[in-house]
Amino acid sequence: MRRRRAAYNRVAMGVAARPIAHYENEMARIVQKFGGTSVANIERIRNAASRVMREIEAGNEVAVVVSAMAGTTNQLVEWTRQMSRLHDAREYDVVVASGEQVTAGLMALALQNHGIKARSWLGWQVPIQTDGVHGYARIQAIEAAEIGRCLAASKAVVVAGFQGVGPDRRITTLGRGGSDTSAVALAAALKAERCDIFTDVDGVYTTDPHIVAKARKLNKITYEEMLEMASQGARVLQTRSVELAMNHRVRLQVLSSFTDAAGTLVVDEDEIVENRVVSGLAYSRDEAKITVQKIADRPGVAAALFGPLADHAINIDMIVQNASEDGFTDLTFTIPRSDLDRAIAVLETQRDVLGFQGLKRDANVVKISVIGIGMRSHAGVAKQMFQTLADKGINIQVISTSEIKVSVLIGAEYTELALRALHTAYGLDADAVIDENADADTEWRTKAVKRQLASGLDDPG
Ligand code: ADP
Ligand code: ASP
Ligand code: MG
Repeated sequence: MRRRRAAYNRVAMGVAARPIAHYENEMARIVQKFGGTSVANIERIRNAASRVMREIEAGNEVAVVVSAMAGTTNQLVEWTRQMSRLHDAREYDVVVASGEQVTAGLMALALQNHGIKARSWLGWQVPIQTDGVHGYARIQAIEAAEIGRCLAASKAVVVAGFQGVGPDRRITTLGRGGSDTSAVALAAALKAERCDIFTDVDGVYTTDPHIVAKARKLNKITYEEMLEMASQGARVLQTRSVELAMNHRVRLQVLSSFTDAAGTLVVDEDEIVENRVVSGLAYSRDEAKITVQKIADRPGVAAALFGPLADHAINIDMIVQNASEDGFTDLTFTIPRSDLDRAIAVLETQRDVLGFQGLKRDANVVKISVIGIGMRSHAGVAKQMFQTLADKGINIQVISTSEIKVSVLIGAEYTELALRALHTAYGLDADAVIDENADADTEWRTKAVKRQLASGLDDPG
């Protein structure tokens, strides 16, 4: 056993750590995370366990992180809503964390069937310590000493994803898709050689392959681009997991548990040899738009408007202000759709102070983003986006940009049309790329996606 094994104990998650060393041709410690579709039933859990066994037989130690069975978390969330619309977030966490408890136990049993003395670990047992923001907690530290010893002794441990323990020792959850973050955090704490994220597609694509049939699998993507893709709506990895992977230099890989196709590696910029301006497109249906009509155009208005929203922890994303007419203007901005009712209620309480004439709400919108590190050095990406949408007769409602992305807000009914048109316009279509493997990949993916759709598998865990 390598000496560095004994060196870890408590790993704090907030700060950047030193890069994890990667060893070739030697026993490795790895993390394998299985998403909802990969553990959707007993047969699939058996299949996932065989993948773990392959690694163990190759001489590796595997920390397995599991999501809930596909559809389970949605069901649990729905039950809490039915019981109480404005539910107590602490009890919400108790309910929604339960899905991962089931799969952790079943996975441990599946591994025991192979003769491995695997044990399951819930968040509080590791412990995975988080802050106290129930429903969207952040991992603060992982005490990895004990689980590390068990891993070394039994070659496999199974950790329930998505959950941790808060400062008051209550169960917390990490936000939807949070098992990805559990896996990366554990990989950092255990100093794993790599972290494999098994999902229902075989990698990160230029855009959601369930929407754009010509989407192309990327062999590699930079941490930064992946971070932007995730935060702009590509749910293949939770945003926080990419942040953690980037800070701790965890070698992250997205792949499918149903095939042996090579996945996508999330890497440093200097590992990308392909020269591309745009790497991918993302979309988010989680936005809603509010327009504050006829508000006085004077200093302090934006502060007076957005201050109370910030006080209620409502995040503003995009903002646009119309030209002023007679000293009045309209202000349009976007917020998470789930906060729409609350935001309107907050603004109504400020109506007298702010003196606006009306409030308009619109949840029928989608945010489409074009992402690529090449944008730093290439102009014209935004122009091409606007022109492509104009050619399709799609009206742009709000625009925002950052160093490596351009986002527009459009009517939700144009989601597919816009994504497909942009995908072609930026030369991302699978058949437009000179890549020996592209055709084979596409063929496989099309079949796989068809199969998954036929069996209703596009439902997240
Ligand atoms: P899991 O349950 O395994 O965590 P998720 O549903 O959370 O799976 O994430 C996988 C899904 O992410 C895919 O089925 C796909 O529809 C979606 N997705 C969105 N954008 C992308 C992209 N750029 N590449 C791959 N998948 C994407
Ligand atoms: N089961 C949780 C969810 O559906 C966590 C995860 O799958 O990553 O959000
Ligand atoms: Mg997920």
